[in-house]
Amino acid sequence: MGKKHISISEFMNALNQNMENINIRIFHFNPIQVNTLVLYDGTGEAILVDPGNCQSYEDAQLEEFVRQHNLTVKAIVNTHPHIDHIAGNNWCHRTFDAPVWCHEAGMPIYNKSYAYAMAFGLSVDEMPQPAKYLHEGDEVRFGNQTLQVLYTPGHCDGSISLYDAANGYVICGDLLFEGSVGRSDLPTGNGRLLIEMIKTKILTLPDNTNIYPGHGGLTTVGDEKLYNPFLV
Ligand SMILES: [Zn+2]
Repeated sequence: MGKKHISISEFMNALNQNMENINIRIFHFNPIQVNTLVLYDGTGEAILVDPGNCQSYEDAQLEEFVRQHNLTVKAIVNTHPHIDHIAGNNWCHRTFDAPVWCHEAGMPIYNKSYAYAMAFGLSVDEMPQPAKYLHEGDEVRFGNQTLQVLYTPGHCDGSISLYDAANGYVICGDLLFEGSVGRSDLPTGNGRLLIEMIKTKILTLPDNTNIYPGHGGLTTVGDEKLYNPFLV
C-alpha cells in the first residue's frame, strides 16, 4: 500500500485541529503575576482557573472579557490554595455566580488565606467555601470539554493538575515551570514528592502536550524532558 499524499493545508489542519476546540486566555494578575486562565469553547461555557485578580482594574479586565465573549462561568478551579492563585475567588464567585472547586487537602491553607494575603501585601475578601472537592481521577467538565484531575502535591498539599488529553494540554499550577520547578520550602512543601509527581504524572504525558504553568511562559512535556535542569 502506498502512502497517502496530503496537501500542506491538510497537514496544517491536522496539526491545528486539536486546539481548535478550546480557547485559553491568559491574564497575568496581582503583584506575583499569576497566570489566570479562562478556558471556553464554542458552547459559551467556561471555567476560570486560578483567578488571581485583586485590584479593581484586574476585576474589570476579567469581567469585560467574560461579558464580551458572552461566557457562562461554570466553575472557579484552583490548582492549589496559595493566595496568588485564589485572590479573586470571592469576587469571581459573586460576580459570575460560579462555585469554587478544589482539592480538599489544601483546605487548611485555604482557610488561612487572610493571613497569607497580609504576608504578601495583598488584601482579599473572605474566601467562599468550595462547593465541590476534586480528587485524582475526577473529571472537570464544561461545554464539550473534559479535563482529568491529577493529584500532584509537592509544592503544597492540595495541588492538582488538569489534563485535557483530547486537546493535548495540561495545567499544572506551581508544580513545574518552563526550565524550572515549583518551590517546596513553603508549608506542606516536599521537594522529593514534587519531582516524583512531575516525573510520574506530567513527563509521562505525550511529548507534544502543552504545559500551562502557574507563572511565566508556556512549555511542552518534550521541552522540559530535554532542557529542564531540575529533571535530569
Ligand atoms: Zn503556589
